[in-house]
Amino acid sequence: MISRIDLRGAAFPEGGIDRDLLPRAELDVEAALEKVRPICDDVRHRGTAALVDYARRFDGVTIERVRVPREALTRALTELDPAVRAALEESIRRARLVHREQRRTDHTTRVVPGGTVTERWVPVERVGLYVPGGRSVYPSSVVMNVVPAQEAGVGSMAVASPPQSEFGGLPHPTILAACELLGVEEVYAAGGAQAVAMFAYGTEECRPVSLVTGPGNIYVAAAKRLLKGRIGIDAEAGPTEIAILADTTADPVHVAADLISQAEHDPLAASVLVTDSEELAAAVEKELDAQVAASKHAEERIRPALAGRQSGIVLVDGLEQGLAVVDAYAAEHLEIQTRDAAQVAARVRNAGAIFVGPYAPVSLGDYAAGSNHVLPTGGCACHSSGLSVQSFLRGIHVVDYTRQALAEVAGHVVTLAEAEDLPAHGAAVKARFDWKVPGDK
Ligand code: NAD
Repeated sequence: MISRIDLRGAAFPEGGIDRDLLPRAELDVEAALEKVRPICDDVRHRGTAALVDYARRFDGVTIERVRVPREALTRALTELDPAVRAALEESIRRARLVHREQRRTDHTTRVVPGGTVTERWVPVERVGLYVPGGRSVYPSSVVMNVVPAQEAGVGSMAVASPPQSEFGGLPHPTILAACELLGVEEVYAAGGAQAVAMFAYGTEECRPVSLVTGPGNIYVAAAKRLLKGRIGIDAEAGPTEIAILADTTADPVHVAADLISQAEHDPLAASVLVTDSEELAAAVEKELDAQVAASKHAEERIRPALAGRQSGIVLVDGLEQGLAVVDAYAAEHLEIQTRDAAQVAARVRNAGAIFVGPYAPVSLGDYAAGSNHVLPTGGCACHSSGLSVQSFLRGIHVVDYTRQALAEVAGHVVTLAEAEDLPAHGAAVKARFDWKVPGDK
């Protein structure tokens, strides 16, 4: 069901291993760009009418308007199962604890007497938060998007999630209830690339936003990449990935369960085990057979995800090679199930989030660890972070110099301007000192 890649004995050059040797997705975001481009253009030109058409085509629902009425949000919370409400409240409480501590304070550096640079942190004015709802629905993603945005002080936020035929073309009621619980009133029944385009271009119903965040499938990730620039985006958080670095101390039952837990998201999800133990690999393969057979979403998602080229068991010579592999792979989620797991985890350079030891499964992070579950995929973890308060803030440098402080550095500014052949830059300084650089004879 899951293939093996044997890297034992392979050369591991200084600069890290070749990513082409590792499991990789068949369909990448680049390939999906051509599919989403006409959808985004259509939303730009036809607005709500295009969203209504795509709801029919991709979500199988007929809707007249995309904005969710206020009463639907209050009703969803009133009718929410109390156990689900309690779980969401605990998830929100823990996420707030972590994200509140991420807030940055403004900082002023006195560069010279009379010359300061202040870094002022300002929230993005209006944001669009995507909450997936295609093959599964993700009320937890409401929490993971909204809590950091609120903690950052974002003033205006809108949520979009696909319309559901079972619920009269509204997003799933638990998603609506989570929005209500968090005080988000602006919610749209729109999914996929068309929802990202709605946020970027605006429609009759939805004012455009400056930043779009949130996870989604390959089409959501592709639309974010396409529209980046017009809007800001968080990291691309596409089909989920789990990598597990494990040795003989790992329990094959746990390892298999965790690989399956992420394969359950999407046939394009990636589940990768990196181990130096042939024995563990064999035990995990056996467990996968047994556990997958008993899983609810085995046929439509788990089996194709585990059998896909994006998943596999990578055999390595030892821990050092294992670390090189997980760093090269840069997984969205990385579990360390080895001896001295905390020390091993501290050596990892590239991962969206790291789960240490036998009692920190990725599912905990998906719902209630307090950490954020919107994390970079497709190798983006080597340059990007998961969603945080920081994602919703911009640092503005405020430069404040007195005449004396400018005079002291004016000669250097003019020299550098001349070195760059930009004499007007130097002139702008000289003009303040009767066209003579202070200190000139
Ligand atoms: P989704 O809401 O992301 O996508 C559903 C939408 O995709 C539909 O509304 C439809 O408009 C669009 N779509 C479907 N087929 C299409 C096609 N052929 N062409 C164009 N558009 C199409 O929901 P999903 O599909 O369940 O995917 C959720 C994804 O989010 C999963 O891959 C999951 O792994 C991922 N996820 C990632 C993270 C992360 O942080 N990286 C977190 C949670 C979930």
